[in-house]
Amino acid sequence: MNKKALHKISYGLYVVSSLSKNGEYNGQIANTVFQITSEPVRIAVSLNKENLTHKYVSESGVFSVSVLAQDTPLKFIGKFGFKSGRDIDKFEGTEFKKGTLGTPIVLDHTIAYLEAKVTDKLDVGTHTIFVGDVVDADVLLEKPPMTYDYYHKVKRGTAPKTAPTYIEEQKKTEKKTYKKYRCKICGYVYDPELGDASQDIKAGIPFEELPDDWTCPVCGAPKEDFVEID
Ligand code: FE
Repeated sequence: MNKKALHKISYGLYVVSSLSKNGEYNGQIANTVFQITSEPVRIAVSLNKENLTHKYVSESGVFSVSVLAQDTPLKFIGKFGFKSGRDIDKFEGTEFKKGTLGTPIVLDHTIAYLEAKVTDKLDVGTHTIFVGDVVDADVLLEKPPMTYDYYHKVKRGTAPKTAPTYIEEQKKTEKKTYKKYRCKICGYVYDPELGDASQDIKAGIPFEELPDDWTCPVCGAPKEDFVEID
């Protein structure tokens, strides 16, 4: 079996949010959100059982989905995707509104949102698929949505379109200095040949020469949390 075939399935990138029985908010990045039927308007999300949002959706029976814009910064995705609501309040410093079902609806970088009431759930092992009837939805911005594929391309740091010519030459002669480093927390790979456009790090800067206060563009981890790869 060639598992790479699975990577050819296309997805979007969303923030799925809910609330606990005590009214605490949490949200997480999810790529598995899909419409199931149009009559009634019904959607489904697949959430990992270990995630706090899974617990909250189970408790409250409601959830919201924010569809993220293609230009959503990695830092924002890192906050909702690589940090746990058990450690931080993700809604602090995040723009959101309370939906008709009481769910927090993230508005930052959101082009559209949906709010749903759980009608069914399916235990699929590591995850639960929650099925919900949509009770409210709106489009907020006419911008393209983030796709999972695009996110991975950005994550790999292909954002800088052109690299200066001297870098091209340097690359050939000093290949050994271009070691890649992987973030132990979120898996982001710093590739010196690409730099980190999100923090104005140009292509050609070796990991060792990054400023001491440079942090993972996805999850915010410090340089110490990176390990050399290759
Ligand atoms: Fe990271």
